[in-house]
Amino acid sequence: MIYVNLNTNKGAVSGKTFETISPRTGEVITRVAEGDREDVDLAVKAARDAFDNGPWPRLPGSERRRIMMKYADLIDENAEELAALDTIDAGKLFGMGKALDIPGAAQGLRYYAGAADKIHGETLKMSRELQGYTLREPIGVVGHIIPWNFPTNMFFMKVSPALAAGCTMVVKPAEQTPLSALFYAHLAKQSESIANAGIPDGVINVITGFGPTAGAAIGSHMDIDKVSFTGSTEVGRLVMQAAATSNLKAVSLELGGKSPLIIFDDADGEICVAGSRVFVQEGIYDKLVKKLAEKAKTWVVGDPFDPTVDKTQFDKILAYIEHGKKEGATLLTGGKPCGEQGYYIEPTIFTNVADNMKIAREEIFGPVMSLMKFKTIDEAIKRANDTRYGLAAGIVTDNLNVANTVSRSIRAGIIWINCYFGFDYDCPYGGYKMSGFGRDMGMNAVDMYLHVKSVVTPIYNSPW
Ligand code: ADP
Repeated sequence: MIYVNLNTNKGAVSGKTFETISPRTGEVITRVAEGDREDVDLAVKAARDAFDNGPWPRLPGSERRRIMMKYADLIDENAEELAALDTIDAGKLFGMGKALDIPGAAQGLRYYAGAADKIHGETLKMSRELQGYTLREPIGVVGHIIPWNFPTNMFFMKVSPALAAGCTMVVKPAEQTPLSALFYAHLAKQSESIANAGIPDGVINVITGFGPTAGAAIGSHMDIDKVSFTGSTEVGRLVMQAAATSNLKAVSLELGGKSPLIIFDDADGEICVAGSRVFVQEGIYDKLVKKLAEKAKTWVVGDPFDPTVDKTQFDKILAYIEHGKKEGATLLTGGKPCGEQGYYIEPTIFTNVADNMKIAREEIFGPVMSLMKFKTIDEAIKRANDTRYGLAAGIVTDNLNVANTVSRSIRAGIIWINCYFGFDYDCPYGGYKMSGFGRDMGMNAVDMYLHVKSVVTPIYNSPW
């Protein structure tokens, strides 16, 4: 399984390869091509040619829809293997992958397939002398740079709306999790024989490689029209800089978060707690801490927990935990690696966390939760918003007025009320503030891959 782009199906120009390692066992799974600038050049050439001369952007939307539907069927048919790939490569739970991630990816393709023939502009009345209309045209060659945490969902979250829009693309999966993306490229190729007119060569190109080389080459490429990035705020800034200093390509960024979850006194029943900064109203604080401590004892240690996909990330999380302890937070539970093998960390909960502690301010990207006590709604809103990030937030309350007020007051791209981590392709996802801009998922995502062109024409003897 060593290839860089779909058209050449060959290894990297340099001949180099790198290991992809299982986070479950720490063992080497296989080697994949180490793409670099020259490989990105080749992939962009293929994508450019497919955009400028190929059928994909020129097909009627209904044809693109038909082909995307076939592609989705192929994913369903290969669900088992695909789920296994993400389990081996990214430590994802196999059962969940097979039941959720993989069918979800196919569902996403179908969602955007449905959009492919509904892309249209507006008519513009303008003045008595002029009238116009808008065309929505594919933005061109797109670079997608994706992270390791949801290899399959990220791939289709980016690729599906871009396909619907009629774009061609170069995708760089994270160096930690390159395998399923290669399979998806392979299935796109297979769709050709199955659907008669499948996804043509050059439309989806996958480059496996590292961020500072292959990723950076995408950000700074002069012939990529748009880069869509999901990852850390730090690297998002680099991508935007590279875009600015090269060809001013369009950019959308889905970056880090430090999402608050606000639990009010009236919260009832089982609470699904998942936020990284959990604000708990004082009336139920002690009860909740006690409940969490009890619950922690029942957690199964091992594979089910968030795998930390590589050693660097694993060490980073443990360093944050040490910081938390040093800064005076109380470790309620967890705090250590779990199991002998792989990069898993125990679900970790700190209490007595102050707003200015490192664990309360920086994105940890691991199973570490900070509990903070608050008194009033205003205080909760103020403290929840006291972050540079604005990706998501959660509210737990039975009071509709409180839920409405808080959801409007929090500066974040998605607010979950009495639930957490609820997603669907129908629901736009993206950040405020330093969590980025642009929206993946939802119909908004199609707009990210379209230009609006205004066409203006004189009108003589207008009656109006
Ligand atoms: P995370 O912290 O979620 O792993 P990163 O921001 O480190 O996120 O990586 C997300 C993606 O960005 C990966 O595919 C990675 O290879 C890529 N990447 C890393 N550095 C750069 C860079 N300088 N330019 C472009 N892409 C990069």
